[in-house]
Amino acid sequence: MKACLNTAAALLALLLLFSGCAVHIPADTTDPPVIVPPGPGDTLPVPATDTLPAETGAPETDPPETEPPAEPIPTFKADLSAYEIYMAPADRDGYLLLVNKTHPIAADSVPADLVYVPQEYAVYSGEWRAQMTSVAAGAYTAMMTELCANGYTDVKSTLAYRSYATQSYLYNNYIAEEMAKNPALSKEEARAIVETYSAPPGTSEHQTGLCTDMHNVYNRTDLELEDFEKTDAYLWLRDNCWKFGFILRFPRGKEAITGYQFECWHFRFVGRYHAKRIYESGLCLEEYLEQLDKN
Ligand SMILES: [Zn+2]
Repeated sequence: MKACLNTAAALLALLLLFSGCAVHIPADTTDPPVIVPPGPGDTLPVPATDTLPAETGAPETDPPETEPPAEPIPTFKADLSAYEIYMAPADRDGYLLLVNKTHPIAADSVPADLVYVPQEYAVYSGEWRAQMTSVAAGAYTAMMTELCANGYTDVKSTLAYRSYATQSYLYNNYIAEEMAKNPALSKEEARAIVETYSAPPGTSEHQTGLCTDMHNVYNRTDLELEDFEKTDAYLWLRDNCWKFGFILRFPRGKEAITGYQFECWHFRFVGRYHAKRIYESGLCLEEYLEQLDKN
């Protein structure tokens, strides 16, 4: 959405405070339990005889469960091993939430685990710094680390999580702007124009904390938001974002299905397993979920 525009950002500054606190991505610092092998004089606990399993002659081990083959881990220039749990979360299907104009999200829905993305990968600071859910923020951090390792160091998140109230404010403000630009428009006509680039409150996936607007044309007067598409950094992200669990959410050619114009700056986290399949299939999220439902 066009909230990354300077005007919108300035208007945002008048709004309510984002909730959440400055929490860094949790590092996996839990040490494994230390297992001390028994010494020669140690007495091992022996289970009581009546709790021992009866001898039945049956094999002692359960038949092996059929597990799907492990997904290969892509090769990265940076050491991203600590981020693997974010890019390919164990809850493989837990990040497929669909929010769009026909699948609204409750007005009071706020992700429980919002964290700020690292400052070096965010345009704004303080309470305006972009926030995502902890897993999406971890995957975003990995993606930006690798993007920098490939020489593209100026891409940052402008806005990620947006509350219902913020979306409501932006949406109504865009309608007022359209009507000010063209006084002949009715409110309904202005609303129709706005909805090609901004979601009505309750229908923006920015409220999920699973997506971010990101580009390198902030603070540029010579480039428009759409010009990000012409940069090598965008091309790298377009082709590699799936490795980190992200998809380009509003692709070109899918406008009639997503309900939005092509947005080269809006990336959505779904986890690597599904991101890879969405990227390779060329489907948009709506089409992919419909296909999953059928299978
Ligand atoms: Zn967006």
